[in-house]
Amino acid sequence: MIPFSHTWPYESIGDDLYVQDCPFCEASHVLLPLKKKHLSHVNTGEKKLLVFPCCFNKVSIIEADGDYLLADRPLRKFT
Ligand SMILES: [Zn+2]
Repeated sequence: MIPFSHTWPYESIGDDLYVQDCPFCEASHVLLPLKKKHLSHVNTGEKKLLVFPCCFNKVSIIEADGDYLLADRPLRKFT
């Protein structure tokens, strides 16, 4: 069971991954330093460190599906 507070929606354009809004600093349309191919590694059990380029906050991505990233700590503060 994935805790909803640890998830964050993303979008992909080609191999690039974006988030509509940064969960930390609320920057919009943030291009992530992650490619779609990295997500397949994540789903084989490898953690992937994600550093948001807007504010340099770091989270470990531990799972991803077609729409959401799952981090090792909460990304949603108010839910
Ligand atoms: Zn940010």
